Amino acid sequence: MELFPLSSVRLENGLFKDAQETAIRYILALKTDRLLAPYRREAGLPAKAESYGNWENTGLDGHMGGHYLSALSLMTAATGNQLIKDRLNYMLGELKRCQEQDPDGYIGGIPGGKEMWKEIRDGKIDAASFSLNGKWVPIYNIHKLFAGLIDAYYYTGNEEAKQMVFKLADWWLGIFGELTDQQIQTVLASEHGGINEVFADLAQISGNPEYLRMAQRLSHRAILEPLEDGKDELTGLHANTQIPKVIGFEKIGALSDSLSWINAARFFWETVVGNRTVSIGGNSESEHFHSRNSFEKMLSSREGPETCNTYNMLKLSKALYLQHPERKYIDYYERATYNHILSSQHPGTGGFVYFTSIRPNHYRVYSQAQLSFWCCVGSGLENHAKYGELIYSHKGKDIYVNLFIPSTLNWEQGGIKLHQETRFPHGTASELTLEIAEAETFSVFIRKPDWLEGQHVNLLVNGKNMSYKEEGEYIQINRRWEGKTLISFDLPMRVRAEFLPSGEPWVSYSYGPIVLAAKKGTEDLKGLFADDKRMGHIGSGALLPMDKNPILVAPDQDVAGFVHTLDAGNLRFELDHLCQGNAEEKITLQPFFSLHDARYTLYWRVADRHSLDSINREAHLHEQRQLALDSNMVDLIALGEQQPEADHHMQQEETYTGVLGDYHWRGGPGWFSYELNNKNQSAKAIYIKQIPDAVSCYELTVDGQLLRKEKQLANTDGSIIVVFKLNAPLARRDKLQVKVSACVDKETGKVVEIRLLK
Ligand SMILES: [Zn+2]
Repeated sequence: MELFPLSSVRLENGLFKDAQETAIRYILALKTDRLLAPYRREAGLPAKAESYGNWENTGLDGHMGGHYLSALSLMTAATGNQLIKDRLNYMLGELKRCQEQDPDGYIGGIPGGKEMWKEIRDGKIDAASFSLNGKWVPIYNIHKLFAGLIDAYYYTGNEEAKQMVFKLADWWLGIFGELTDQQIQTVLASEHGGINEVFADLAQISGNPEYLRMAQRLSHRAILEPLEDGKDELTGLHANTQIPKVIGFEKIGALSDSLSWINAARFFWETVVGNRTVSIGGNSESEHFHSRNSFEKMLSSREGPETCNTYNMLKLSKALYLQHPERKYIDYYERATYNHILSSQHPGTGGFVYFTSIRPNHYRVYSQAQLSFWCCVGSGLENHAKYGELIYSHKGKDIYVNLFIPSTLNWEQGGIKLHQETRFPHGTASELTLEIAEAETFSVFIRKPDWLEGQHVNLLVNGKNMSYKEEGEYIQINRRWEGKTLISFDLPMRVRAEFLPSGEPWVSYSYGPIVLAAKKGTEDLKGLFADDKRMGHIGSGALLPMDKNPILVAPDQDVAGFVHTLDAGNLRFELDHLCQGNAEEKITLQPFFSLHDARYTLYWRVADRHSLDSINREAHLHEQRQLALDSNMVDLIALGEQQPEADHHMQQEETYTGVLGDYHWRGGPGWFSYELNNKNQSAKAIYIKQIPDAVSCYELTVDGQLLRKEKQLANTDGSIIVVFKLNAPLARRDKLQVKVSACVDKETGKVVEIRLLK
């Protein structure tokens, strides 16, 4: 299967065109010179503007510039917008100036990057999951620049971008070509985006096998090998670190005819989509894959699926679909596009969402253009520029209509124009008008989506009813096309109920592919529009008690019947059989993609009437404990997780991280420290949770003062909590340097969590 060039598809009025235009405003609001500032600084050129803040001046400097190149390239192809194209050319010109300053052809925004890369070349490697030689994921960062330059060439044909990226690639070969396979695998312990994928792209563009060889060497064996064996060992891993690697495996597999690499990618897709994905198409909690058997963590967390993960799952789905044109890849693509990607953009400000909380009655926060520079802003800039990429595809002359999005395909090479008119999902009828310059015989295939569940599709060609063949879950219309042909069809939608993949009794509703949600209150939407603080991307307003959420009382499993259509054209539905306390409740449902600036509920607990009381009691107790801890909390670090550790300026010597069950931990014979924020100087105590073992013994110092153990509590899961009291002078400080050091000849033990408590 092949894609049409993005530039040959134009969106017509509708949801996606609106989102595209909103994204253009956000893209143009960013200041190019500020995005370029880290690159100029590292190239030794005088500053033209101050660099942006947030992740752009705390170590990941320049990552946004790489995404920006991709976004401008995609948007140029998708719309032909001249302002966007001018930006792209300006950006490339400036980056070229930076590259000309360096005899080796290096460009990068990483602070002190050039020196660090030389250390790597000389075999001095210190890699941890989110750092490399003390820098914040530099390969992840430079991958964005590689990808941006490749996109500028691929989507707009810019030859200068092509020359620049090959120069940069040759600099890279000069660094990594010196390393052994073993050394490269050590480096790859550090998050590295899709660095293997870009080298596969370069091999494909140039035909030079040296790049393919580098792509293979840059593929992380610790992740590849279990996947080749069909093993899902993903629990506990940082999700968005893994997905781009797998996109690379797929591409390299295809270029080198390596079936086992392609199968590894297919298996990964199957297990992530089948076992780890919720209704909106997203996966993971607090950036990590949780246990497949329990979504409890995700259901109770503020930090649900990350948008970057789905951005990358869409890339992987697209690549797999082109290799193996099976409908399931498009079914997922459609689901994730409507329910996660489209919904991750604020329709007014264009702000992007990082975490979509799945916790009932929580909310999401949106980025602000001049303040927020997270990963999900970077991928977000690209997301809304590529809605046209898979609406249509082709196999030779045969055309596939994959998605029901108003648009026009202008296939110059084939002499064909295909116009799609539809109000979908606000209506079920669609019309395709195919115009052809010279009469020809071929097939048009229309996808019969999974959510039709076998319902018949009425098809008319030029107003006449037509029977059709089905081929690979697509409707096939094979005929001799001449002049103008009108194809009309109807996609009947109905309400469907979907339980969690784990089988836990929680259900989410969809209408056709559109996930429905209930709009809840607007109380305490703290940080709804994120500031530039390190934790600004998380909805930190109060967690509302889970035990106050209504429960769906289902005598049997036929829960789909509890939703009634109020107004199909406006996508309004009503859910009944809800019970709160002893009262019955009815709730209006709407598409999740249209729900903003409020708390919401996507998943409903299902129970039979007999077990209601015990469920309520249990939920109440659990909730009281969680909320008490939450309201008492001043600051929290989940150890061994990338973002919390980076946000709290982690330092360490001789410690490492790992996963035990659902716990992430840090520990070892050395020491580690964090800077905790004592907000309003309200902390009175420090709480350390750990999984003890025979050799664990540590000392806790705060700002250099040794603290004494106040009390110790044991949990039923084998973890212990030790509470240390802060003395009065320490409690009056805004920042506390908390350091855990192993006792002599001992280890710290597996430390899971550190909290400052009131
Ligand atoms: Zn992200």
